[in-house]
Amino acid sequence: MLVGCKACKKKIDRSVAFKVRKNNVNNYYCNEQEYNRKQLELESRKKVIDLSLELCGNTTNTNLMKELNDISKTHGYVKMAKYIEEHMIEIDKAMSMEYVSDFAMIRYYAAILKNSLGDYVPSEEQEDTPISVDIIEDVKYKSNDKKSFFDMFAEYEE
Ligand SMILES: [Zn+2]
Repeated sequence: MLVGCKACKKKIDRSVAFKVRKNNVNNYYCNEQEYNRKQLELESRKKVIDLSLELCGNTTNTNLMKELNDISKTHGYVKMAKYIEEHMIEIDKAMSMEYVSDFAMIRYYAAILKNSLGDYVPSEEQEDTPISVDIIEDVKYKSNDKKSFFDMFAEYEE
């Protein structure tokens, strides 16, 4: 039996799909990675909305959601969430002016995001951090090793 993947909408065989039971409904994904990516996307979307409401002062104007949704089609919520989170102070500063309406403010906020996201390269994924720490420790360890190696030679020469 074929089922639709919740993440990429592809038709997949139920017997090989990654199954997640939520609210008494089975959700199917091509694999666990796609499921995890989808979860990250959903978390990021929530974060983007929370931070945007913080920056725009809890507006009830639905154009904010519409603008965010449009931007996400190009950049994705994961990148947007990282960008906004890293630049809260700058965005807040850039936005501190008088607006004729909430609509004008939202358009301005969306323009800031659109203009900045194109050149924005998100910092390393968190999963990569332990690896680079390992490398640093490895280098440190080797240099200590080298030192004792030379110390050994120095002793030998004396
Ligand atoms: Zn899929």
